[in-house]
Amino acid sequence: MPTTPNVSHDEIARFGKLAARWWDPDGESRPLHDLNPLRAAYVAARVDLRGAKVADVGCGGGLLSEALAQAGAHVTGIDLGEKVIEIARLHLHESDLRVDYRVQSSAELARSEAASFDAVCCMELVEHVPDPAALVNDLAAMLKPGGRLFMSTINRTPAAFGAAIVGAEYVMRMLPRGTHHYAQFLKPSELGRLLRHAGLELEDVSGVVYNPLNRKAWLSSITAVNYLAHASKPA
Ligand code: SAH
Repeated sequence: MPTTPNVSHDEIARFGKLAARWWDPDGESRPLHDLNPLRAAYVAARVDLRGAKVADVGCGGGLLSEALAQAGAHVTGIDLGEKVIEIARLHLHESDLRVDYRVQSSAELARSEAASFDAVCCMELVEHVPDPAALVNDLAAMLKPGGRLFMSTINRTPAAFGAAIVGAEYVMRMLPRGTHHYAQFLKPSELGRLLRHAGLELEDVSGVVYNPLNRKAWLSSITAVNYLAHASKPA
């Protein structure tokens, strides 16, 4: 029996509409642009990226993939959106970097390159997939023993509902309406459980505070809205 792919086609179509303007720092991907230096630094502080083999799962137009490649990593960027991958590939002509972009599912990469990545990044994706546990299992399977997983997502709190949905989609109209669904947000404790069930050890959870008015983002102990998580695969 074929396995059901862990993907919502509405989600892929929604991000496909944003593809052409993905690299416009003032377009709909603006929050990703504003958060990118912080999350790239979070990864770089925990893995030596020079020469490291890194997967960026749900890479979109490649903001983080390029930052990792710039830091010296050999990056494989996968996404199920054909349009975003096309934009990611085109942007390499501007940046003069190398990233191996593929239209591929996490399950396929976990199968074809099991236990082969020093680090796996999966930013702002887990809240968009039908089966978060299956995604986390795929990410864990990609890691070498001793490898590191980095994820970012949105907490399921009234503050996150206010900031990520009401604030970003309705008040500031920064993101298209319908970008996020409250019920799919994960609490850090829930993500921690998925990571442990996948055989990983949770190393850190850090809050990310973002002020969309001055476009600054910083790490914080406040995980009520956005947060980053770091887990490792036992050596
Ligand atoms: N990780 C990138 C993009 C986040 S936007 C960044 O943070 O900069 C979410 C991305 O996930 C979109 O590019 C969308 O096409 C992709 N996506 C959504 N569902 C997916 C799935 N089931 N498998 C792989 N990619 C998916």
